[in-house]
Amino acid sequence: QAKETGRSRAMRYSDFMESNASNILEIQNNIRHALDNEEFQLYLQPQAELAGGKVIGFEGLIRWELPGKGMVSPMEFIPVAEQLGIIHRISQWVFQEACRDILLFLEKHYKGVKIAVNVSAVELTRVNFVEDFMGTLGEYGISPANITIELTETVLLETSESHLERLDYLRSQGIELHLDDFGTGYSSLNYLRSLPIDVVKIDQGFIRNITVDKEQMHLTRSIIEIAHNLGKTVIAEGVETKEQMELLKELGCDRVQGYFFARPMTIADTLQFMEGHEMAE
Ligand code: C2E
Ligand code: MG
Ligand code: MG
Ligand code: MG
Repeated sequence: QAKETGRSRAMRYSDFMESNASNILEIQNNIRHALDNEEFQLYLQPQAELAGGKVIGFEGLIRWELPGKGMVSPMEFIPVAEQLGIIHRISQWVFQEACRDILLFLEKHYKGVKIAVNVSAVELTRVNFVEDFMGTLGEYGISPANITIELTETVLLETSESHLERLDYLRSQGIELHLDDFGTGYSSLNYLRSLPIDVVKIDQGFIRNITVDKEQMHLTRSIIEIAHNLGKTVIAEGVETKEQMELLKELGCDRVQGYFFARPMTIADTLQFMEGHEMAE
């Protein structure tokens, strides 16, 4: 139900474009304006160990509040920014904000904090991606151990040597790579074998019905088993109920993320949340 509220509050970017922008330049200006005027926020959603309930880390999720218009969903504006070739400006802001948040955690002595940032295939294709990403970590003095990359839209990834080289390099630098939305779109079991990833995130579409749909449950169990056999850790996304959480524990899943444990929150709320929770080392 809460999901519906969130969805209806989020304005479709297509409507936004129609009502506010007559051409591409204007959309670009809107995003620039949002960057300059700090209309973006990075919310953090905890990821927890299923055994023990300790917090492992957080996923950074971008939020765009258009003054007077409400929230625009990232599912609406990220693809537009990608098409316009300005996603790197948003990503750069996200990386910087993640670094600033990591510093806030370190100040409070959460040495093992990890923040995951979402990186799409489009961004990974950009020639300077790795240099920029490592450069930002360097500027803020952040250890690669404190940041994680979530790879979304894995189409293309498999076929491109340069993608694989970049991922191998990032991993060799100590950056954990997580495969997002596993089980949707074109993602295949072969990714689990061929991509240099540490963690598999099972998409929320899989999790939604596991307590009522036996086949879905069997599929989820099999994915967990295969991932484990390949040495990967498994996170279930979109866990909304206690029943789902308990079933996932039975199925051998390692970690959970979802409204049942915690919603995405501002950094201030996240730091407060942590006062009542333990962080895994
Ligand atoms: P994602 O990376 O798969 O992120 C998970 C989405 O599920 C988030 O939606 C999160 O708010 C939502 N979620 C978390 N727990 C639950 C739950 O229990 N139930 C339900 N129904 N949903 C849950 P959000 O924040 O709207 O982001 C949507 C997508 O936009 C993300 O999917 C990601 O692909 C993209 N995105 C978000 N932030 C960024 C960013 O900074 N950069 C890039 N490139 N993409 C981003
Ligand atoms: Mg993600
Ligand atoms: Mg996901
Ligand atoms: Mg997604």
